[in-house]
Amino acid sequence: MTDTEPLILLIEDEPPVHKFLGASLPAHGFRLLGAETGKDGLARAADYNPDVVLLDLGLPDLDGLEVTRRLREWSNVPIIVLSARGQEKDKIAALDAGADDYLTKPFSTGELLARIRVAIRHTARLADNSPQPTFIVGDLRVDLAGRHVFVGDTEVHLTPIEYKLLTVLVRYAGKVLTHQALLKEVWGPHHTQDTHYLRVHMAQLRRKIEPDPAQPRYLLTETGIGYRFADQ
Ligand code: CA
Repeated sequence: MTDTEPLILLIEDEPPVHKFLGASLPAHGFRLLGAETGKDGLARAADYNPDVVLLDLGLPDLDGLEVTRRLREWSNVPIIVLSARGQEKDKIAALDAGADDYLTKPFSTGELLARIRVAIRHTARLADNSPQPTFIVGDLRVDLAGRHVFVGDTEVHLTPIEYKLLTVLVRYAGKVLTHQALLKEVWGPHHTQDTHYLRVHMAQLRRKIEPDPAQPRYLLTETGIGYRFADQ
């Protein structure tokens, strides 16, 4: 174990989750630090400066939403919330309060590792200030400098709104974006309730860039939450 391995802080009151991650994360090259209450978690985040925080939404002292808000007062560390099935409202509230992603319990080691890697990549991209003029995933190529979109060799013509929607999704590739966050970024702060705008334009965008719009390859639906752009 070395200091160069990313440090993951788990804030969670259920011992089985600590046990599960205590076995799986170190086996995949991560260091794990644990806290069982929100207050302890906040203190450890300040003391150890972790690379990613895994945060249970149902804690005995502070709820996860409060922990997210307090962390965001001074830290940009990626926060992945852990929640039970059916807690859609809580997940959305946590994401809109500044959490980066979520996992629904029970989750597999594979899903967890994928989310952690996306979070760490995103941090690295933000730290690297050099411009990234082209985004490529699968057959899709978005030339951000030239404002051109290609599927294979064919250029796709997007309306200004469709292009803006696509670039916002691409900027956060791999991470979930809530309906509200997308509406705010693309249409502005007064349109955060207009989810029908999003549905209509997302459908048009899928028709233009997806090989099969009914089975999206790039523009993934997160049911009840928002959308996620595939990052590989
Ligand atoms: Ca709990």
